[in-house]
Amino acid sequence: MLHLGSRLAELPRVGPATAKLLSKLGLDSIQDLLFYFPLRYDDFAQTREIASLKPGENASLSGTIELIQNKKSFRRRLYVTEALISDESESIKAIWFNQPFLTRNLKVGDRVSLAGKITETYGQLSLVSPAYEKIGRSGPIHTQGLVPRYHLTSGLTQKQLRFFIKQCLPLAKNLEEWLPEGLRRKLNLVSLPLAIKQVHFPNSEAEALSARRRLSFGELFLRQLKSQTIKAALKEKRAPVLAFREKETKEFVAKLPFSLTGDQRLAAWEILQDMAKASPMSRLLEGDVGSGKTLVAALAIFNAALNNSQSLLMAPTEILAQQHHRYLEDLFRSYGFKIGRLTASAKLKEAETYDIIVGTHALIQSRHQWPRLALAIVDEQHRFGVSQRQNIISRPELKGLVPHFLSMTATPIPRSLALAIYGDLDLSIIKEMPSGRKPIITDVVLASRRQAAYDFVRQEIQAGRQAFVICPLIEDSDRLEAKSAKAEQARLQKEIFPEFKVGLLHGRQSAKEKEKAMQDFLEQRTQILVSTSVVEVGVDIKNASLMLIEGAERFGLAQLHQFRGRVGRGEHQSYCLLFPSQEESSGPALSRLLAMKKYRDGFSLAKLDLKLRGAGELYGTSQSGFPELQLASLFDYALIKQAQDEAAAIVKADPKLEKHPVIKTKLGEWESRVHLE
Ligand code: ADP
Ligand code: MG
Repeated sequence: MLHLGSRLAELPRVGPATAKLLSKLGLDSIQDLLFYFPLRYDDFAQTREIASLKPGENASLSGTIELIQNKKSFRRRLYVTEALISDESESIKAIWFNQPFLTRNLKVGDRVSLAGKITETYGQLSLVSPAYEKIGRSGPIHTQGLVPRYHLTSGLTQKQLRFFIKQCLPLAKNLEEWLPEGLRRKLNLVSLPLAIKQVHFPNSEAEALSARRRLSFGELFLRQLKSQTIKAALKEKRAPVLAFREKETKEFVAKLPFSLTGDQRLAAWEILQDMAKASPMSRLLEGDVGSGKTLVAALAIFNAALNNSQSLLMAPTEILAQQHHRYLEDLFRSYGFKIGRLTASAKLKEAETYDIIVGTHALIQSRHQWPRLALAIVDEQHRFGVSQRQNIISRPELKGLVPHFLSMTATPIPRSLALAIYGDLDLSIIKEMPSGRKPIITDVVLASRRQAAYDFVRQEIQAGRQAFVICPLIEDSDRLEAKSAKAEQARLQKEIFPEFKVGLLHGRQSAKEKEKAMQDFLEQRTQILVSTSVVEVGVDIKNASLMLIEGAERFGLAQLHQFRGRVGRGEHQSYCLLFPSQEESSGPALSRLLAMKKYRDGFSLAKLDLKLRGAGELYGTSQSGFPELQLASLFDYALIKQAQDEAAAIVKADPKLEKHPVIKTKLGEWESRVHLE
């Protein structure tokens, strides 16, 4: 008998090879499969809300006929059939010529599906001569229903996955409902088994939406419960008091080659005030790429070190850890702090003797003890899970003291939303960019101008600059990505820039190789660095003034913005050149890229991306960096607020969830899952 915990290999038509592919997607049990949500639905994507239609588009929509009539146009000697169609959002006029029989077939109250071009006359939208299909009066849309599309891995097809999930669906009824009944009723949320069924195979758009709403709420609610319980627990804890060494800090800042921006000053002040208290700081520092977050972190580290305490700085990649290490060594050269690095490839002896340790995940995985640890900083926090954070701050060797915690992110989230999402963190935001930065000149380069662009790049390199070349994103295959990066490097080296040295950086290289590639670029032994998206986060190379992005339309705007932020950090005028893939060099993909020319800040771009591509693309899936949110969108303000309020009410009355055993168990499961990722 199959049950929720059954291994997938036990399913019909799942052999060992297929089971292995499924496992690659993180799917090992039937339960995993049931919680593997579709990215979208095929027909869903085609049927549009009337209110969202724009002139010039080809679209299909479905709605009810409110009015339909034939008119005879004497002047043009034709019959005109006009109908008013409405859905929940809006209504629109449809017009047909010389088909008077239509009124015999289509009647007021009928549901129809229409497809055609949206035109605008006198400011009014209409559909002219659309294709139409009558839909049964009551029944669901009788296409083939909504067909789910899942994120795949190569070797696996949509059809297979759909088949497997359909097989398992009857077991959804055994899933335990963990949301309190009263809460579900109050918020009108469907039960978990029903939501699982309908999220995979909805009969209508409405079903898909209500299923998603229920599942999203579940995710957000757990997220909030977690934050709120952490917050409640932290309130009880004590932290090392790190006195604000104002005089030394001022001297240190005065010696910098630039002055701090107002926002940096304020953020640093907030952080240093927190650290001087006996309760643990828990703060998020948010600022666009290049806004100078690292320096603010450095001021915190500086104060900890002057207090004879230890700081950890965690970066998401080895490259970044190395860069931060070097940065801090430069900054603190004259202070004699002992600064070390700990990553998978850089081991550290006598770790407890260091004042500052920069590293990657290896920091928390290591068995080192940090008895003087007083400050833990995580850079690009969205790459770390909530529970990992717990891992850094709860260390037995600290004998009950909890270190101050600072996390830094460039993910552009507005204050209200950040507070809701990271309910347990206080927030400092750097909005102001360091002065004197020249705006980066951005352009979209079509095939016909590629040669000219290369000539321009050549000129710049001859003048002493350096260039990044980012290769197209190949979803879910770092093997193919690495391959394409290699090919591009060979092509540029042989055919385009034989006079320069072209380096290579990709995710399949060993840590040593990556480090060497970065080092060579940093020390200008290579002038061009071809890279996959691994270079995305944080890297700071002042002499690089050119960012070329191949297959640019495959990236989200927020991600393109991150790439762009890699240049423009020095005094040189910098450029970002976006090369769309040939077949995509027109239409919506192109206009999306053009937005990169217009907008300079990450937040506008992220919002625009959301509008153009949908939440899933931006933050929705596990690649989003919010592994705990599979479905929920960070932009679903209303649902987030509800989850926050409900979680707060529960935690306030029952901070340890002792009276809510089902929720408590669920939260535990969720934590261990999020932690594993
Ligand atoms: P991010 O916020 O993206 O992490 P960084 O901390 O890497 O940004 O800073 C980017 C660059 O700007 C660094 O080289 C840093 O030294 C420099 N920088 C930081 N603050 C200032 C400032 N106030 N004025 C000028 N340059 C600054
Ligand atoms: Mg940074």
